Amino acid sequence: MSTSTTHAAEGILPETFVHIEGIGAKTERRLWQAGILDWQALARTPLARRANIMGALERSQRALERGDLDYFFMELPASERWRAFADFGPQFVAVDIETTGLSSYDELTMIGIESAGEYRTFVRGANLADAVDALREAKGLITFNGALFDLPFIARTFPELDLPRVHVDLRFLARRVGFPGSLKTVEHDAKLDRRSELSDISGHEATVLWSEYEYEGRRRSLRDLVRYNAADTCVLRPLAELVVDRLYQALQVDRERPEGEQRLFDPDLPAGLPRTRRTPTPTVKPPRVSAGTSTLKVGRQTLALPERRSTQPRIGITDLTARMRDPNARIVGIDLTGSESRPSGWALLEGDTVITGTLSGTEEILTRTLACRPRIVSIDSPLALPAGRDCTEDSCECRALGITRHCERTLKRRGVNVYPCLIQSMQALTRRGIEIAQALRNEGVEVIESYPGAAQDIMRIPRKRASLTQLQNGLERFGLCGLRTAGALTHDELDAATSAVVGSFYLADLHEALGDDTEGFLIIPLLPEGLQHSEPREHCEDTSARQGVCMLIGAGASAHASALGLPAAEDGRTPAPGALLLGEDLDDYWRVLAEHGPCLRAAVIEPPGTRQPRRPRFADLQLRADDPQRLRRMRRWSRQWMPPAG
Ligand SMILES: [Zn+2]
Repeated sequence: MSTSTTHAAEGILPETFVHIEGIGAKTERRLWQAGILDWQALARTPLARRANIMGALERSQRALERGDLDYFFMELPASERWRAFADFGPQFVAVDIETTGLSSYDELTMIGIESAGEYRTFVRGANLADAVDALREAKGLITFNGALFDLPFIARTFPELDLPRVHVDLRFLARRVGFPGSLKTVEHDAKLDRRSELSDISGHEATVLWSEYEYEGRRRSLRDLVRYNAADTCVLRPLAELVVDRLYQALQVDRERPEGEQRLFDPDLPAGLPRTRRTPTPTVKPPRVSAGTSTLKVGRQTLALPERRSTQPRIGITDLTARMRDPNARIVGIDLTGSESRPSGWALLEGDTVITGTLSGTEEILTRTLACRPRIVSIDSPLALPAGRDCTEDSCECRALGITRHCERTLKRRGVNVYPCLIQSMQALTRRGIEIAQALRNEGVEVIESYPGAAQDIMRIPRKRASLTQLQNGLERFGLCGLRTAGALTHDELDAATSAVVGSFYLADLHEALGDDTEGFLIIPLLPEGLQHSEPREHCEDTSARQGVCMLIGAGASAHASALGLPAAEDGRTPAPGALLLGEDLDDYWRVLAEHGPCLRAAVIEPPGTRQPRRPRFADLQLRADDPQRLRRMRRWSRQWMPPAG
């Protein structure tokens, strides 16, 4: 009897046994080979006399009848959960996000969702928060690499949202059926079409498209980014169907092959292998996208053109100098290269003004740096070896202790791209960094290790590989003066300037030191909690209206409260819903926040220490209101206190 053709088009689950306790893949295969092809057939065997098996079959039948995707997903072993997608595909929505970058410091800019063949976009500054409802309704999610990227980003942005447990991540499934690599590679290898003009946009360029819209107002960049996201999102379902087909075919082969000859999926399977799974879903067509002067049209969806609000944290170089003991302390930043033949970037930062240049020889770097009499030198290079290593050589015994330091592992975990300090291409740089740091320390100069890439991620400035112009623009938005006009600066100089800025964070005591005494410390900026975000963070809960605003005494909080018609709560006490929290300082505010949970969140303010400021400025203000009109009014009100974007 040919087992592969007897299956009727009812789906994979009724012939699945591996979700039953005590039945593994091997037993399932043996059952199939014995002609036991579905639950009914299994119920007629002696095996079914075992109570747990009969019970499981009955539960499965009931779950199937009520379309309980969750049940099957949780009962199936992780490697076989795709079978639930095979039968419950329409309950899934495909999700793909865009961000300002890849690290955990970055922000979400767009969520694309395809549900029942229709794509919708949710864009920062327009309707991003509406994605919460769309995601809440989803029974299951399809993503490509969502477990590591998209879903953690969404969870960080919307902490109150419970994402569905049911999630099919195609990155791993595609690899299993012979399509390793990025979504683009997989699409190409699987011969899934994508319009050609989109094929050469990489994920990195997508972050640049967003910045071009955000900071330069280029509508075409926004349109391209939505198109790109739509193409990525709309290919997920067809890809899922294709991958599930292949996995199913592999099961068919397993059934026919006598035991002992099992093998993994073979991409060269004979064409025309019988399959009767079900009617394939049609391909999902991405919508037409256009960005006009006031609206963004995406298929049937019309959005207001997203507001352009900077994603850069609302902190700048003057905030740092204000916190430094000596605001005019001189800081030298060096973007070191591994050899004297390649010029290194060099920057001198004093207050908010930076001077940059390139220097080659070690002697020249030392002389020039010492001549500035810097308070601190910040070097972009590893300045220490991994614990236990005594040299950089691969041939030495100490190589057994590895090539990576803890600080590099920590950054990696945070999604910040960094090289281990002793991979071959870094060895010369590490040696030179240690030598120069030692020479400077011998002269009594304090030296710190910095990494511009990490600092740029934390400050949400595009890295040099994304776009040199945007890196320079980002540093200028940060408040750095003295950078030459575009085109004339090299990326080494911009990285040196960034290293110098890390020195400011260090002297302003807004830094995190990664490492220990043996491996030294890598310094990265640490943003104070109220300044991590750049805009009012609007949440989307439908709970009762509450807003908190914390202002320094004398900043005019009571006047604002009465202008808004809000009662004001006393210092540090729990405000009633709708009340304005007044506090002398942020500590009060954050303490109340910690005690009373996320329903009250907002922040502040003028730079700490400033009394009687002329204009209160909010770093972060969270507004909630059940009445949309009131919410709009509060938003308008709050915006006048936010410095303009860009
Ligand atoms: Zn050694």
